[in-house]
Amino acid sequence: MGVKQYSNFINGQLVGATEFIEVENPYTNEIIGLVPRGGEAEADQALTAAKAAQPAWAKLAAATRADYLKQFAQVIRENRVELAQLLMHEQAKVAPLAQVEIDVTATYFDYYAGWARVYEGEIINSDDPKENIFLFQKPIGVAVGICPWNFPFFVMARKVAPSLLVGCTTVIKPSSTVPLTNMRFAELVAGLDLPAGVLNFVTGGGGTLGNALVRHPASDMVSLTGSVEAGVEIIKNSAEKIMKTSLELGGKAPAIVFPDADLDLAVKGVMDSRLIFSGQVCNCAERAYVHADIYDEFVSRLKAAFEAAQLGDPADAGVTYSSQVDKAQLDKISAMVDRAKAAGAEVVTGGGLHDAGTGYFYAPTILTGVEQSSEIVQKEVFGPVLPVIKWDDYDTVMAMANDCEYGLTSSIFTRNVGTVMQAQKDLNFGETYVNREHFEGIQGFHAGWRKSGIGGADGKHGLYEYLQSQVMYIRY
Ligand code: NAD
Repeated sequence: MGVKQYSNFINGQLVGATEFIEVENPYTNEIIGLVPRGGEAEADQALTAAKAAQPAWAKLAAATRADYLKQFAQVIRENRVELAQLLMHEQAKVAPLAQVEIDVTATYFDYYAGWARVYEGEIINSDDPKENIFLFQKPIGVAVGICPWNFPFFVMARKVAPSLLVGCTTVIKPSSTVPLTNMRFAELVAGLDLPAGVLNFVTGGGGTLGNALVRHPASDMVSLTGSVEAGVEIIKNSAEKIMKTSLELGGKAPAIVFPDADLDLAVKGVMDSRLIFSGQVCNCAERAYVHADIYDEFVSRLKAAFEAAQLGDPADAGVTYSSQVDKAQLDKISAMVDRAKAAGAEVVTGGGLHDAGTGYFYAPTILTGVEQSSEIVQKEVFGPVLPVIKWDDYDTVMAMANDCEYGLTSSIFTRNVGTVMQAQKDLNFGETYVNREHFEGIQGFHAGWRKSGIGGADGKHGLYEYLQSQVMYIRY
């Protein structure tokens, strides 16, 4: 059987291509799909369609737009197993996690459908008793959503759901590394009666298609989830348009373990957070700070937990995690650990490649003896590697946690409510998790400080990202 060729979805039509990008299953190293290699022409077609469709879409009642989001949720549920299999194959995500991502995505569309009758403007008191001031909320227009490879299906919904609900139209560019579930979803949407041009999917490279989508005059905002480097490029390339950007970028989350922590819970929370999806998660613990009183015990228990992780085929029951997403990621992780070792880091466990069959495996790795200023503590690894640092002074550990160019998430493990409340004041991160692994809720607000981003996603505040205000002064 030949490898399936996917189509772009532009103006309600599946549009074939002549040039394609190969998509590899990282576990088997087989090519499992071909997606169009789009560029300026495809950006122009998709954005022109989205621009034309936007006024009529915005005129619909929000509840009518919400009905389409419910249809998306429905069609995902009807195809949940097929989509999860595809996700597993295109990125070596273990089967249960792939299924969770598909199912949560359906819930996400339903969640934002529920906002149709909830979001609102304001009435403001005027200085003039014969005047009313109204603040209306209106859709920004055409939103471009640029997605990463790590949670490709869920992040797509994070951009589509709030955007469409408030009356924006959307062009989605999936990651070229992992585009297949997005493009299969586009095929499913093509079978619905969504008005043409409201939602479009185009595939291609970041520097080519992505750049063209950003620079095109028809795009009114860009929402990127990806690396700091891509965020910088998008800010530069959108500068002359003075265009709104919503950027969810990298992370280097600290996990701080206090001497009174429940150690079973802390070890499990840090391990789950670091090893889920092979460490390729922006909000998960990338560095641990452990109090001196419990440091030896914590490191010894964490070592046992890391060594119990089952690496292998993502389809096999009991496998904890599988291959990194591609060779480039494996090489990046490997090089960072090698540099840490050369700088004096001690390897508690792991520290090299792992032979778990085909694929790009890196062993679950714990490093100690690392400097706060070192690359392995300061820069995002995006792999199953955790540097652990000992501390004994509260102010010092808070300063070390905050001392990082990223500010996405953080966590603390303690039984003391006073410590929790003080840490809330002292930690400068978009999210802080207490006594649990790093994972956000769809009704929260996922937004980073510093280089982790501008704006954010989820919940009420994620919805308002796609709205702009119009104040009207009415004298009577
Ligand atoms: P990436 O930056 O390489 O790519 C992300 C997307 O941006 C891709 O679709 C890519 O094609 C596109 N892109 C790249 N350069 C571009 C440009 N100049 N113009 C327009 N588009 C461009 O990131 P990735 O490797 O796919 O994902 C991993 C990164 O994403 C990590 O840093 C991770 O922390 C981050 N991430 C952040 C979040 C979050 O919520 N903050 C979530 C997931 C991933």
